[in-house]
Amino acid sequence: MGQVTRCEPEVAKRGRSFGGRGGVCAESKRGIHLYGEEGRMKVGIVGTGMVGSAAAYALGMRGVASEVVLLDRDPALAEAHALDIAHAMPFASGTTVANGDYDSLRDAGVVIIAAGVAQRPGETRVDLLGRNAVVFREVIGEIMRVCPEAILLVASNPVDIMTQITTEISGLPAHRVIGSGTILDTARFRNLLGAHLGVSPRSIHGYVLGEHGDSQVLAWSCALAGATPIAAFAAQVGAPITEAVRVRIDDQTRNAAYRIVSGKGSTYYGIAAGLARIVGAIRQDEQAVLSVSTVTADVEGVRDVALSVPRVVGRAGVTADLFPNLDIGEHAALHRSATLLRGLFESVAL
Ligand code: NAD
Repeated sequence: MGQVTRCEPEVAKRGRSFGGRGGVCAESKRGIHLYGEEGRMKVGIVGTGMVGSAAAYALGMRGVASEVVLLDRDPALAEAHALDIAHAMPFASGTTVANGDYDSLRDAGVVIIAAGVAQRPGETRVDLLGRNAVVFREVIGEIMRVCPEAILLVASNPVDIMTQITTEISGLPAHRVIGSGTILDTARFRNLLGAHLGVSPRSIHGYVLGEHGDSQVLAWSCALAGATPIAAFAAQVGAPITEAVRVRIDDQTRNAAYRIVSGKGSTYYGIAAGLARIVGAIRQDEQAVLSVSTVTADVEGVRDVALSVPRVVGRAGVTADLFPNLDIGEHAALHRSATLLRGLFESVAL
């Protein structure tokens, strides 16, 4: 059986458990201070390379932030991106875009962290771990100094471990430190399933769980097209999901980043749109179901681990975890993913 776990104040500090009881976050009841003025929200972006700058562009094009502030260790780069993106805004939205320093992040509702080093061709995300952990020690301290009320949205890889590191360093409750996790992998999975079935990916309800990385778990057994299980839908439309189709979709979801990196050096448009989607859910207090990563008290028997399952996202951050019905193989794969991530987190000296 799938489970819904609402975030309880007493467990919020450490993370939630799939086995927990009901309740709502203290902060979701009273609301947190996301807005300087009614309806406005500033979003800070720390690290404005390919991902950070594309995220700023996506936020502006969707108009989901009233103000975006770009900050990078290389101030000239942040300024150049801010100018370029600001010049697109008259065509798109009323979002103001500027570069700044840490003090200009004051009152931000969300801070996206995309600082660090990108994956090189042939390099796994976990290879990045040591290098990005050093960057995060500096960055999180500065963010907490100026905007301790913000929700932190982590994009840097390996994103699940960086999310757990951010939670530890910041001391924030787990539901306010969100990793983009498998939001992108889920989009890839939905895209491929939609193309195979001849329906819009937006009508596919399917999720990728676990690590944003090689051990991710495509939750085939609970994927729906509209309201119909995908196997039944596929049979109805004459596009059966054979073993060959399954292997192809799995491969193209799991290994998409490697293909993109080998072709153009890095990936950024997809994750940028995913980050804008998460920010939109926070700003509008949508309670949207998104596959994102937060530190979770118990996943398949693994304690305190950050990975993705579908979670409810709104103004207070993550307010519930939705643990879908899985088959035995998917349970085992999620356990393996959680074990791997917990082990990697323990290997980092904080
Ligand atoms: P990039 O090299 O283009 O940009 C990184 C930026 O971080 C650089 O501009 C650099 O100057 C800046 N930076 C480094 N240290 C800093 C510090 N201490 N303070 C402020 N800025 C600092 O890399 P990218 O392609 O933009 O990727 C950024 C991160 O996002 C990488 O870790 C990458 O693996 C990750 N990523 C995640 C996803 C996802 O799905 N979560 C997708 C793609 C990339």
